[in-house]
Amino acid sequence: MSPETVRIRVTSTVRDEFSSRTKEIIARRTGYLCAICHCATTGPAQNPLQAKSIGVAAHITAAAPGGPRYDATLTSAERKSPENGIWSCQNCGKEIDSDVGRFTVESLREYRLRAETAAGERFAIRNRHGPELAQAERTARSAATTVVRQWKSVYRYGEQRLVQLNLRNRAMVADAETLPHMDTGTSDRGLRNANACRERQVH
Ligand SMILES: [Zn+2]
Repeated sequence: MSPETVRIRVTSTVRDEFSSRTKEIIARRTGYLCAICHCATTGPAQNPLQAKSIGVAAHITAAAPGGPRYDATLTSAERKSPENGIWSCQNCGKEIDSDVGRFTVESLREYRLRAETAAGERFAIRNRHGPELAQAERTARSAATTVVRQWKSVYRYGEQRLVQLNLRNRAMVADAETLPHMDTGTSDRGLRNANACRERQVH
């Protein structure tokens, strides 16, 4: 085995993973919201003693050579740093690593900056207007529950109704298109009325 082969094998097995502490910092910096789609990544589990999480700390530049957006110029410490991470849900995390055309280093930094700026603003607003915001949230949640209930009642029987409604609309359009003589008749009648008015004005 050549020395070069040995070197490649050694470097390819080294991954600069984030520590648990670093992951926590990355997550907290966006308030545990996905920096890409803004969904919540944590919530209560059914078991009251547990919480569930769908969040991941994704690497902006890959943890190992050959990975997405790998940057050989970074040191191992820089690659493991919170600065090289972005918090996302599992769906977005998968996309971040598979669609490098869309998720470039620059775009990921931009996503992270926006998410962290928003988290900072929410944090500041919450500190200043906590009770009012809590009340506004309760009101909004109650209104949303009502709307969702209404939509559910429509959708339960409703998919059929919606289909029927669309068909009826299409049928009306089709009728209008297949009966051009009605329009012609109307406009002829309009023209005759207009001519009659003009004749009355003349005489
Ligand atoms: Zn997401």
